[in-house]
Amino acid sequence: MPEALIARGRPLVSATPRPIVITIDGPAGTGKSSVARALARRLGLDFLDTGAMYRAAAAVVIEKGLPLADPRAIVAAVVAANIHFDWSDDPPSIIANGRRLGSRIREPDVTAIVSPVSAIPELRTHMVSRQREIARQHPRLVTEGRDQGSVVFPDAAVKLYLDADPTVRALRRAEQLRAAGSSVPLDQLLREMVERDRADAAKPTGAMVRPADAELVDTTSLTFEQVVDRLEDLVRARVERV
Ligand code: C5P
Repeated sequence: MPEALIARGRPLVSATPRPIVITIDGPAGTGKSSVARALARRLGLDFLDTGAMYRAAAAVVIEKGLPLADPRAIVAAVVAANIHFDWSDDPPSIIANGRRLGSRIREPDVTAIVSPVSAIPELRTHMVSRQREIARQHPRLVTEGRDQGSVVFPDAAVKLYLDADPTVRALRRAEQLRAAGSSVPLDQLLREMVERDRADAAKPTGAMVRPADAELVDTTSLTFEQVVDRLEDLVRARVERV
């Protein structure tokens, strides 16, 4: 079906039975999280932010004062923290050690260590199994991260990969931070973002990678609404075809 003829903004009618998982992967600053959330809302699906789970793990590491050089202690603390979402909130709140973390997970000290924390293989094994468990409980799901299409849900119905020019990504992040009341110099944001991408792509397991069967969407010159429209059209064309 030509994408232009697809009616937008109504619950997804799949040609295949439940469950339906749509994965969105890609580097930081492509607008992935907000786009994925908007897409899920339009399609009438649940939304999973897997970056929030790794960010919660990093927040636990800081709270417990654990050194990055002690992966066993980190994994034990993260498992004990029982990181999970409260799905009765919209968007779902992330909880660790029984407490809602809120905007704590977006603070710079958390962002600074999330990549090395999430590179610990045993920690990833734990998170991947939690994510699959979430998908069993929420079988109609848009899930967003770095490894969702490649590792966690290799059989996903639709795999999307968002990318954008690094400078544009840094600018978007700067705007988000400004809106949240903090200002970080653009060149510093760009440096940190490029370094995080490099570290994310070099992980021994769960590295950021574009799956061969993922649809690439370059968001550099698209507005937020245009990206969501494009993804909605791609999903409907794949899932609703007869
Ligand atoms: O998407 P977000 O910027 O919140 O992700 C934070 C970090 O969590 C990423 O830079 C990456 O190191 C890690 N991550 C991951 N696997 C995922 C999602 C996020 O390793 N599926």
